[in-house]
Amino acid sequence: MAEDVEPAADGVRVPRILCIAGTDPSGGAGLLADVKAVAAMGGYGMGVVTAVTVQNTVGVSDVHPVPLETVIAQLDAVADDVEIDAVKIGMLGEAALVHAVGEWLRRRRPPNVILDPVMVATTGGRLASDDAAGMLRDLVPLVDLVTPNVPELAVLCGEETATDIEMIVGQAELVHEQCGSAVLATTGDLADGSSEDVLVETDERWRTTRRLPYVRVDTPHTHGTGCSLSSALATARVGVDDWGAAYERVRPWIDGALQGGLHLGVGRGSGPLDHTWFLHH
Ligand code: PLP
Repeated sequence: MAEDVEPAADGVRVPRILCIAGTDPSGGAGLLADVKAVAAMGGYGMGVVTAVTVQNTVGVSDVHPVPLETVIAQLDAVADDVEIDAVKIGMLGEAALVHAVGEWLRRRRPPNVILDPVMVATTGGRLASDDAAGMLRDLVPLVDLVTPNVPELAVLCGEETATDIEMIVGQAELVHEQCGSAVLATTGDLADGSSEDVLVETDERWRTTRRLPYVRVDTPHTHGTGCSLSSALATARVGVDDWGAAYERVRPWIDGALQGGLHLGVGRGSGPLDHTWFLHH
């Protein structure tokens, strides 16, 4: 790994964030969303492509996996050259790649690794085979934070899809107990309309479960919210003490991006967030 660079004169170093994900050519989800979110939070975004999807805001029509060796070669090319401050893992798609990325994490041990256990696109298309979805559970103990939405959380803990916030708390605590990594269960897609995300983490010896209230934005344009939130969290985590502090930095930004998405006018379906909403007022 290259020598670490000196921080700028004011002591602020731009966090270098590696995103591992598929592409969405309409730019709302996947790697393009990741890198926009990283930039919006003040980081330097890098991207390793795992699959090329054919999709727009209406749906996914095709998925072309990048050969496994090429994905790992991309990861090594970056890690050989750049000191990585945080990693965000999104769509992996195939079981063999889930395994290979796990091996890569064991070998390179990057800090602040977030897994967004991507299984299905917001617009409904499958983005992970059944095998891969099952194997994502094995990847969770190798990461620092996992950020499942409601159906992904159910798959990770092998239970029914939660229908209320109490079930979410129970499932998030279960995944944390089983895997050891921090869990941020996002609840934007929870049917009971509650508006609290759930963060479970262990600090020293004490497990804490926190309900993090947010104001629900009434919008159909949520394409890429999971990708964007997890990449923003990876960036915000650098330089703060825990995931709760990172979440506090990210929440106002993601709320603004959801609000801004109402006015973007991108596509006819579930449109994207406005990652740089703060520049558009
Ligand atoms: N990764 C890719 C490549 C995608 O295309 C999508 C959704 O379309 C996702 C991840 C997941 O998106 P979301 O953040 O909306 O869950």
